[in-house]
Amino acid sequence: MFNAMYRINVHIFYLYQRFRLSGREISRIGTLVQGGMEVKVKPFAVGVDIGGTKVAIGIIDAKGCVAASTIIPTNVSILATEMVAQIAEHILRLLDKKGITMEQVAGIGIGAPGPLDAKQGKLICPVNLPSWDDFCVVEELKRKNSVPVLLQNDANCAALAENWAGNAQGCEHFIYLTISTGIGAGVVIDKKLVSGYRGNAGEVGHIVIDPAQGRCACGQKGCFEWVASGTAIARRASEVMGTKLTTKEVFALYRKNEPRIVPLIEETFTYIGMGCVALINLFDLERIVIGGGVAEVRSSICSGSKVCEKPYAKPGGTQYSDRSSAVEKRCGNDRRSRFDTCKL
Ligand SMILES: [Zn+2]
Repeated sequence: MFNAMYRINVHIFYLYQRFRLSGREISRIGTLVQGGMEVKVKPFAVGVDIGGTKVAIGIIDAKGCVAASTIIPTNVSILATEMVAQIAEHILRLLDKKGITMEQVAGIGIGAPGPLDAKQGKLICPVNLPSWDDFCVVEELKRKNSVPVLLQNDANCAALAENWAGNAQGCEHFIYLTISTGIGAGVVIDKKLVSGYRGNAGEVGHIVIDPAQGRCACGQKGCFEWVASGTAIARRASEVMGTKLTTKEVFALYRKNEPRIVPLIEETFTYIGMGCVALINLFDLERIVIGGGVAEVRSSICSGSKVCEKPYAKPGGTQYSDRSSAVEKRCGNDRRSRFDTCKL
């Protein structure tokens, strides 16, 4: 649930950013004093996070606080249009529950897995959403609402949120690296999100790290996510141990110093370090924020990657940050409270 809440906020932030970048007033969400006069503005926005197994929907206020949220399962056996109809219905239900009208909503921000075309508002061929190929999700949702709808790659959204409210506040050159089922990244350079031609920049999971490790689903050999994602850790450890293991089970064995697992995990840390070195050399980063579903191991990955980075990356000095630990340290159990301090 924490991840879903977090990502809902992420997408709203992207919405803010787009208003600013497009020259529209960012103050359309929240209140603003302009020329000594208080301008009436739309105080809420909607965030939708579309994933392969679930869709998280949230209503967010101008401070980034979640006014209402829900999670619905992603049904991949129905048409994408039907799934969007369900999302639209849940948005209305949430607004109704909080007594908020669509007139008070500045827009809807959608985060989705790539590859996608952010400008055209469509998903291209998301691996975990087979019925969404070449589907214009923005157009479909616009048909059901009168507010602006925007689409962006989910890792890009996460990078913007880290910059706004997370561990990359004040950073002008950083990468949010997500290590989960796959590996992806959001890249911010010179304070700007690097989104690329169609919004797919940051697909770092398909940087080749070790071609000797076999063929990735994309067709190349030895991609970053093929050798170092949560899926890769589980697959490689299962082969070594001769039994099917989850990533969590693999790390439990690692903590028990299982002799067949320890070298495998250390090799994984080295691979992650190699990936980070490539990114540091390419972008001259001040920070890498590591997040993603392999949550219980993020701090290990941070320290492991840093050890590998030291001898190679030039000129060095890039900071690593584990998203969850710092956030939880600052906010305690009330994870939502961290957004209260955010400034638009
Ligand atoms: Zn690949």
